[in-house]
Amino acid sequence: MDKKEVFVDVSARHIHLTREDQDVLFGKGYELEVHKELAGGGGFASKEQIAIVGPRSTFPKVRILGPCRKESQVELSKTDARALGVDAPVRISGDLAGTPGIKLVGPAGELELDHGVIVAKRHVHIGTKQSEEWGLKTGDVVAVRVDTPDRSLIFGDTEIRVQKTEEDLALMHIDTDEANAAGMGPQSGFIVEF
Ligand SMILES: [Zn+2]
Repeated sequence: MDKKEVFVDVSARHIHLTREDQDVLFGKGYELEVHKELAGGGGFASKEQIAIVGPRSTFPKVRILGPCRKESQVELSKTDARALGVDAPVRISGDLAGTPGIKLVGPAGELELDHGVIVAKRHVHIGTKQSEEWGLKTGDVVAVRVDTPDRSLIFGDTEIRVQKTEEDLALMHIDTDEANAAGMGPQSGFIVEF
């Protein structure tokens, strides 16, 4: 493959929960119902939706992405963060030191996260095969070109994340602000720079 094609998937605002936080919000031992399996073996989006309450406004219905994680994490777009009144930094998922917190309200309880609110840094998941063929490893930074009818865009500062899988995998994750900036929905893009 000489053209490095990646499928670009758009992530709406969502929440990852620890088992403990899920217990507080939904009741002890509660299991989330699957609304949709995510591409690339990335877990699932829940049927359940809970409220994110910021100092300036509230989003009443935000989906949770399962399964549970070691740390709770809220992923927003910059536009979402501004609307809620929280100053969320751009971070790679899981890099949560020094990030702001926010209030979550579920059907069985509420809690105040003391950190974990981020704007996810755009990235491309690739498999072992793509990693070898393209000469890219985790932490490498590339640019990805997306062609659309009237807002084509090259996304720089895109991090590579290699997953150990024998299956073909080349999946980029961007948020709704980034998708809107390029006038796009889920579609293909191409790695154009290293
Ligand atoms: Zn991702």
